[in-house]
Amino acid sequence: MQTSLEQQTMPHLVVVGGGAGGLELVTALGRKLGRKGKAKITLIDKHRIHIWKPLLHEVATGSLDTEIDAVVYRAHAARHGYQFQLGAVSGINRAKNEIIIDPILDDSGNIIVDARTLQYDRLILAIGSVSNDFGTPGVSKYCNMLDSNEQAQKFQKTLLNQFLKNGQENGNQVSPTRLAIVGAGATGVELSAELHHVVEVLSVYDFDKKNERLSINLIEAGPRILPVLPERIAESASEELEKLGVEIRTNTRITKVVSEGFIDADNNLIPADLMVWAAGVKVQSWVVDTGLEVNSINQVECMPSLKSKTDDSVYVIGDCGSIP
Ligand SMILES: Cc1cc2nc3c(=O)[nH]c(=O)nc-3n(C[C@H](O)[C@H](O)[C@H](O)COP(=O)(O)OP(=O)(O)OC[C@H]3O[C@@H](n4cnc5c(N)ncnc54)[C@H](O)[C@@H]3O)c2cc1C
Repeated sequence: MQTSLEQQTMPHLVVVGGGAGGLELVTALGRKLGRKGKAKITLIDKHRIHIWKPLLHEVATGSLDTEIDAVVYRAHAARHGYQFQLGAVSGINRAKNEIIIDPILDDSGNIIVDARTLQYDRLILAIGSVSNDFGTPGVSKYCNMLDSNEQAQKFQKTLLNQFLKNGQENGNQVSPTRLAIVGAGATGVELSAELHHVVEVLSVYDFDKKNERLSINLIEAGPRILPVLPERIAESASEELEKLGVEIRTNTRITKVVSEGFIDADNNLIPADLMVWAAGVKVQSWVVDTGLEVNSINQVECMPSLKSKTDDSVYVIGDCGSIP
């Protein structure tokens, strides 16, 4: 039986972000230390459920049901010996070993839980990354991004609405929905392929000329798709996408987004009804204000032990860290 004194002296390990890295970590820490009363483990995430990021494009196309495939943090925490707190972290007071958590709002913007702080003995940042628009005008106004479950679900709704609209506009004559994706990394490539499968499914229900229903432009600034993977894989992925009817435009740098589509460096318009920006990533900007050493995309610089270079109490895992 644990005494209250033991509880008071137990170290508090706080993990911010329950994604691919953070969720594995709290599960292991909860089983090893939390359940045995050797440490208090707390996970904080801004969402109630976890969806593995590489599956977000399947949420976007409607082929994955989050009701079935998501992990509910609170239930998972109860089973694995850690505690869960809902909230978006927006800063760290390193002098006081405290994280700063934004208020929780309801759908109408009313505060349900006030802004708060939480003390830690060791802090592990695992907040992943978000899309980087590189300051390109029009991206935030006109483009969809697929960084979270909410964004993926919003995209799916917009896509279905666009199908409906294009079908209705021409009476019985269905005009294709024009989709353009900037960035031929994992998100852009997997989304292009998945969208074609979705259109096949839709065609079973109400339309038989599936290829006329969706046109996809995959736009990449570099000379080839999947730049971080070996050329051999990129080549076979290109062939498969072309078989599906995806138009791949490499060496095409987008400089502006307007309501009608993407504008490239030569001032050509690539028209689109629906636009996705998946051209690169960065870490949320509040990390810069923590005083932790960061690189050009705000990743926290850390040592091979994953301890941050700047603060012995702060560790970093996953996409938000960088080991030079
Ligand atoms: C389409 C696609 C395919 C991929 N395929 C592969 C693959 O095959 N193999 C591979 O290794 N990698 C793959 N990746 C990359 C992989 O998904 C990421 O490297 C991985 O998810 C990073 O894990 P993470 O824990 O750093 O961040 P994430 O998994 O992104 O998790 C971050 C978590 O932090 C939470 N969070 C963010 N900000 C806050 C905040 N301020 N306060 C509280 N909570 C916050 C988020 O809600 C989220 O739960 C793929 C990515 C994509 C998009």
